[in-house]
Amino acid sequence: MKTILKTVCAHCRKPMGETDGEGIEGNSHSICEDCWYERYPGLYPDWQQSLEAAVERVNMARLVWRIALLEENMKPVGCGDKP
Ligand SMILES: [Zn+2]
Repeated sequence: MKTILKTVCAHCRKPMGETDGEGIEGNSHSICEDCWYERYPGLYPDWQQSLEAAVERVNMARLVWRIALLEENMKPVGCGDKP
């Protein structure tokens, strides 16, 4: 029996094609190009370079958050500081 696996966008439900389900019938999810641009700007289409840039942004955000806590004389939690 031939089974079909339909791929739809996880965000907007746009159909993204069908593949042989190899025994599994149903839906699979991916993210369409439009939603990539809308929800994850900078992460498409140049995966490697963009991922590195995204990691850098996250590290920078952590640093800013930590400085903000220190300025409020609060101890950051879980940053590896020894008492
Ligand atoms: Zn979409």
